[in-house]
Amino acid sequence: STASPFVVVANRLPVDEVTTPDGSREWRRSPGGLVTALHPIMRAEHGTWLGWAGGTGPAADEFELDGMRLHPVALSAQEFEKYYEGFSNATLWPLYHDAVEPPVYRRSWWDNYREVNRRFAAETAKVAADGAVVWIQDYQLQLVPAMLRELRPDLRIGFFLHIPFPPVELFMQMPRRMEIMQGLLGADLVGFQRPLAAQNFLRLTRHLLGLHPKGPEVRVGDRTVRVAAFPISIDVGEIERLAGSESVRARTAEIREELGNPKHIILGVDRLDYTKGIDRRLKAFRELLQEGTLAVPDVVMVQVATPSRERVAHYQTLRDAVELQVGRINGDYGKVGVPAVHYLHQSVDRAELTALYCAADVMMVTPLRDGMNLVAKEYVAARVDLGGSLVLSEFAGAASDLRQAYLVNPHDTDALKDGLVRAVRVDPTEAARRMRAMRRFLRGHDVDHWARSFLTALGVPEATDALDS
Ligand code: UDP
Repeated sequence: STASPFVVVANRLPVDEVTTPDGSREWRRSPGGLVTALHPIMRAEHGTWLGWAGGTGPAADEFELDGMRLHPVALSAQEFEKYYEGFSNATLWPLYHDAVEPPVYRRSWWDNYREVNRRFAAETAKVAADGAVVWIQDYQLQLVPAMLRELRPDLRIGFFLHIPFPPVELFMQMPRRMEIMQGLLGADLVGFQRPLAAQNFLRLTRHLLGLHPKGPEVRVGDRTVRVAAFPISIDVGEIERLAGSESVRARTAEIREELGNPKHIILGVDRLDYTKGIDRRLKAFRELLQEGTLAVPDVVMVQVATPSRERVAHYQTLRDAVELQVGRINGDYGKVGVPAVHYLHQSVDRAELTALYCAADVMMVTPLRDGMNLVAKEYVAARVDLGGSLVLSEFAGAASDLRQAYLVNPHDTDALKDGLVRAVRVDPTEAARRMRAMRRFLRGHDVDHWARSFLTALGVPEATDALDS
């Protein structure tokens, strides 16, 4: 196979393996925002995407899908446990999310993290053409930039972190903090979701490595590394089309009907993750029912809590805690045929999700810390009718973009209750004013804009030509 001038490196390939009706296995593109954003570039540039395809068997051969070349990287069962569930999701994930759960440090996880990063770097070095642009994604692969540069100094290397980057004081906890910083500094451009994260990183280059950043740039040996924020977004057009479709509109009406046509539907949609503040939201809702400020059946809540990382201990405890809360709220405030909280521990497809967004009078997005939170942006994109109100945590990256939401501090239960009550009681004119302003912002800042900004800052604006058509 020929080498690629544009390579994306991510923990996961943007595909799921599905079984067709006749029993054969095939690959289908997964609906993620990242692949939607990069697909036009991948196709136009004969791009290759490297990533894990799921499972712990040997890697499948490289294959083509929708004009993209996909290059699977294998993980053993032990690597899955230590690189992925361990170092990535039990050390880095909680630490980078303000340690809202205590990060777990295990020395035996590190070797696997480094080993898998080395494999990704080596495979990338094989598929990248001379002088290729390589865009590495996220916290699972922070060592790849430096490893790859060592193998292939000719490449233009970008790195984007999709999750938050913590303040210096927290980052300093991490064993192996030096290696992580040095790994990231192998890139020409290190991108973050928010300016604050970029500042945290720049402060660390000074504090930990004794470097002297000047504005957004830092000299590392004879190279210059640029550091900046590129808030990610969504495919606004796709959500708008779905929201406007006959089937989604019919389903929206049906959902309201099925919920008993309440005056107010409150919606939460999250992976079942302790960073998402699901418990805080339920506590606020419970207190409002208890005081009688809100009452069933006028108001009902729908909470979609998608199963996630179910083998990691924190996630099991969280599930128990959330389900206990839901059960208690329903026991105390539900009525026969009308639970106060409709709880779905399920994954919901995009059409159904969009119908839920359109049916919801109030969307609650209350993470304790979140890199961006795409659900908040999808809700706004779906409200082509200018209806609905968004209650949004200040600690989500989306809060920098969606300024007309009801911004709340999810640690402050009274503030959360106040935000929810204001969103429930807002008059339609004011709700529409807020929604219109947020929609205007989103239309100018969709996921194409994000990819184009990053690649332009990386010094390869020509790579984005495919996005302009
Ligand atoms: N999502 C979905 N089905 C679900 C729940 C979520 O398709 O049942 C999608 C949702 O539309 C969004 C993404 O998963 O695009 C979640 O992204 P977000 O940034 O909100 O949170 P993350 O899960 O990445 O922390």
